[in-house]
Amino acid sequence: MEANENTAHHGARTPGRRATVVGAGIAGLAAALRLHRQGWNVVVIERAPTRRSGGYLVNLHGPGYAAAERLGLVPALTPRDIGFFTSVLVHPDGREKFRIPAAVAEAAVGNRALSLFRGDLESALYDAVAEVADIRFGTTVQALAQTSGEVVVTLSDGTRLHTELLVGADGVHSRVRELVFGAETEYFVDLGHMVGAFPLETVPEHVPQGVGATFIGPGRTAAVMNLGPERSSTFFAYRCPDPKAELALGAGPALTRAFGDLGGGVADALRQLEADPTAAYFDSVGQIVMDRWSHGRVVLLGDAAWCVTVFAGYGAALALDGADRLGTAVAAHGDDIPTALDTWETSLRPEVHKRQALARKGIGRFAPPSRTHVWAGELMLRAIQLPGIRSLAQRAIQRANN
Ligand SMILES: Cc1cc2nc3c(=O)[nH]c(=O)nc-3n(C[C@H](O)[C@H](O)[C@H](O)COP(=O)(O)OP(=O)(O)OC[C@H]3O[C@@H](n4cnc5c(N)ncnc54)[C@H](O)[C@@H]3O)c2cc1C
Repeated sequence: MEANENTAHHGARTPGRRATVVGAGIAGLAAALRLHRQGWNVVVIERAPTRRSGGYLVNLHGPGYAAAERLGLVPALTPRDIGFFTSVLVHPDGREKFRIPAAVAEAAVGNRALSLFRGDLESALYDAVAEVADIRFGTTVQALAQTSGEVVVTLSDGTRLHTELLVGADGVHSRVRELVFGAETEYFVDLGHMVGAFPLETVPEHVPQGVGATFIGPGRTAAVMNLGPERSSTFFAYRCPDPKAELALGAGPALTRAFGDLGGGVADALRQLEADPTAAYFDSVGQIVMDRWSHGRVVLLGDAAWCVTVFAGYGAALALDGADRLGTAVAAHGDDIPTALDTWETSLRPEVHKRQALARKGIGRFAPPSRTHVWAGELMLRAIQLPGIRSLAQRAIQRANN
């Protein structure tokens, strides 16, 4: 099958330039939105058969919040903002150890910030894009061929697309990266941990409404957030010597093995996972480090290019920022796509570099190496609540965030 135009169901509208975006995650949908606003005809290729709206919390502040504003997403996101909630640190059996009042985080991050379930950000983007781009689920890229004027993309259903810009936003295990830049092993820096996150079907037991309950022990963190029916979610991170073996085991058995000794909300979350293990986002934690994010008319965006990992707490924000800047760069350079991509990369690299470094430093907060580290971390969290120390800590967090 040969389809020469990426026009699909909106083909009659604008005979603009053609872009193909691979991946309908945060980066891909944001890129589709931004490029559409500039008159591009956009096709989005997503391997999953349906939308992937799972995940735990994402934070938008600093450049990530500014990008959400420029993309026009803030009005849709604000009603879904979780805001600054009370965090409770818990014992292994779920009993409360101590609370970190919402005011501590609020004063550190300021009011230009949103805290959202990843699914709410995905929904806001999807709603903005669904009617203006041709989104093809259950499809992936089989081959790519590039000339100076276009990229020919062969899809898994045999369709061929001719496109002036190809955006590889297909996540940390990017197929576009593999096809254009080579094997994942060249770029994946394994941080030796696993991450799991999934929405909860029913309100978690033992976690009061409006509270995020977090257990932090040597080598692991488990967090359960109760915001009521259909608004509750959970997150796990743990150190492991062999991420490949964990992936082979699968989310249900692996998370149960790593956290099955815990009580409270965690035990309930694991029971819910057993009922539907496919709902979980479960992956090894590793950064993508590359010297170049583009080649000719092909550009990588989001985790595919620079995965900062969950330890940065900033992957979605960077995906929005990167997509927005990409739109600005291609608008400024007209038909000269390679120059636009160079300019874009130069503008974004310092922020990515900073977030990757912060993530590596942050590993110990999610997976402290020993009991002593757990204890020292708790001491710091308790101390932050003392007025003099609080303002020092808040200034340090502000500097890191912005
Ligand atoms: C369901 C889900 C839940 C997540 N939960 C969390 C979380 O709780 N905490 C956290 O820190 N991060 C989470 N992440 C990762 C987080 O979304 C990203 O780090 C960040 O938002 C950057 O987004 P991205 O679009 O670059 O990557 P992703 O959000 O991973 O999106 C990549 C998209 O590309 C698609 N894709 C992959 N391969 C192909 C292919 N060959 N062809 C076509 N499409 C392909 C994927 O199905 C996915 O939709 C989650 C990701 C997903 C998909």
